[in-house]
Amino acid sequence: MQSKTLIEKLSTSSLKMGIIAGGQLGKMLIQEASRWDIETYVLDPDEACSARNVVSFYVKGDFRDFDAVYAFGKQVDILTFELEDVNIPALQKLKAEGLNIAPDPDVLALIQDKGLQKAFYAKHHLPSSNFALYESSDAIKEAITKGELSYPFVQKLRKGGYDGRGVALIHSPDKELLEGASVVETKVAIDKEIAVIVARNSADEVRCFPAVEMTFDEQTNLVEEIFCPANLTTEQATKAQSLAIEIIRALDMVGLLAVEFFIDQEGQILINEVAPRPHNSGHHTIDSMLTSQHKQLLRAILGLPLGTTEVLKKSVMLNLLGETGHEGAVFYEGFEACMAIEGVKIHLYGKKETRPSRKMGHVTILSSSLEHAQHKANIVKNTLKVKSCKQ
Ligand code: ADP
Repeated sequence: MQSKTLIEKLSTSSLKMGIIAGGQLGKMLIQEASRWDIETYVLDPDEACSARNVVSFYVKGDFRDFDAVYAFGKQVDILTFELEDVNIPALQKLKAEGLNIAPDPDVLALIQDKGLQKAFYAKHHLPSSNFALYESSDAIKEAITKGELSYPFVQKLRKGGYDGRGVALIHSPDKELLEGASVVETKVAIDKEIAVIVARNSADEVRCFPAVEMTFDEQTNLVEEIFCPANLTTEQATKAQSLAIEIIRALDMVGLLAVEFFIDQEGQILINEVAPRPHNSGHHTIDSMLTSQHKQLLRAILGLPLGTTEVLKKSVMLNLLGETGHEGAVFYEGFEACMAIEGVKIHLYGKKETRPSRKMGHVTILSSSLEHAQHKANIVKNTLKVKSCKQ
């Protein structure tokens, strides 16, 4: 018997979509999916995960575990993910048995490994910093002793890093190396960090969101603010978008790809890394674009025409991070005051407990001018604080 296509299931309100992991990105994807009556399933080990209060069916389990991922995949019509750290053999088996997995597990396997990612850019003549691969910190030390490697350099663990964890700037022998198989990259003299999110469907239609500019907190390495559009020359903006399209096509990937770039002090664009899923740098799209990144992902993986990436408003996005010195039941100080500011959109992630630097939510601040949005963002930054409840 011919099984129903995804579109037939979507059109009869009977589509079951599985999302691996139920963090905030999963939550936001579910919120979009529910507008189309898609039945959602989330696999996450944490019963208090962000997606828990919006998902149709929560499944407790570890996304790195073969059996958990395999059994989860068997329950749904289409499977996607909101993080990279997923058990690939389970995905491969599900794919071989006919499950629709988007993006493809082969793409995920390549992107999971920063070493393979860098080799891919080199093979396709895509601009990225020079690099070498090492099996261990001892191998790096040996290369330094032999004069094959010199300070400063950036060491990145090939697997498992995120939000700056697993990345170290090594400028002298005093700085301790990370332990594990690593990519070592030339240190780029960064002027700006930008990102472009691109979507592609199975008909090879591609669409990019405009480039955004990201600023990072020096202590935590977490994104602090995102501006859209980025302050770039037309040439740089066009180049970033065309590189994003080149990468998604070279990967032959269906889905959503966030591409992070460096603009160096000479104005050259270099690819830093990619993520095959919704991304922090696209949070603003929910409020500032005609199509959000999550809706674009659904369109792409369900084989629908892609949505317009027309900008409705300029925006600044602030991550709402737990304040230092505050731990326990959360209290969002200044919520009411921020609601009095026009164009302020607060998103909370459903995390009941705060701790220092935990990503608890984000705020998108909209205006017809970026300067005005920035002005309001500064007020929000000084007003809205993630604290713990007073005892
Ligand atoms: P993660 O996957 O954890 O976000 P990234 O590869 O994006 O890690 O690196 C985290 C940060 O480290 C970047 O945002 C950038 O500021 C800095 N960084 C990474 N690679 C380089 C490099 N080659 N040169 C200079 N700085 C870098």
